[in-house]
Amino acid sequence: MERLQKVMAQAGIASRRQSEALILNGHVRVNGQVVKTLGVKVDPLLDVIEVKGKRITLEKKRTFLFYKPLRVITSMSDPQGRKVVADYFRHIPERVYPVGRLDYDTEGLLLLTNDGELANRLAHPRYEIDKCYEVTVKGKPSREALQLLRRGVRLEDGLTAPAKVRVLASDETSTRLEMIIHEGRNRQVRRMCEAVGHPVLHLIRTRLAFLTLEGLKRGQARELTAAELKRLK
Ligand code: URA
Repeated sequence: MERLQKVMAQAGIASRRQSEALILNGHVRVNGQVVKTLGVKVDPLLDVIEVKGKRITLEKKRTFLFYKPLRVITSMSDPQGRKVVADYFRHIPERVYPVGRLDYDTEGLLLLTNDGELANRLAHPRYEIDKCYEVTVKGKPSREALQLLRRGVRLEDGLTAPAKVRVLASDETSTRLEMIIHEGRNRQVRRMCEAVGHPVLHLIRTRLAFLTLEGLKRGQARELTAAELKRLK
């Protein structure tokens, strides 16, 4: 038996705190009865739990590490019929969702899960999860440009947190950088590099926390091990 709000959070309804509010506000029924107190425990497989009249179902929790190829949309479906990450997971019975997103033109590591609580936690800036990218930019960033990235860049949605930046390689026309950030704003790495005068030519996410792409080819996925899940939580 588990606490009702925990089961709701696991089903991806809302965070635990928000689930408590839904209970207190009378939006939740267990086996047909409205529950308005927080101590109630339920059997997630046997009890019928409804939130605002909709039954919630608990699937087996599964979390995958996926090597997203270029030109794939981080989404469950696309009205224009382009390839989406969900296409790579049609063969499993559970419906797993991407945690965060990578641009159409970005490749690399993406997590997909049906564990709502894990997804909420990973997305929360408080956990400051390292997101590591290999970025090929146009030109050769000066020391000042690198310092700007390291200090934080002013973008139209505000100053970014500092990035860790290392130069990996450089040739006449482009430079390969390693950039580690914690935030996950829309197109953040591209916008940061563009803002210091070096448009991104290629972007790959190589690491998320301690998880890497090791052993995976583009378009391949593997399920996280119990030890990895424990470490993430
Ligand atoms: N930053 C970007 O600009 N794009 C991504 O896909 C991920 C991070």
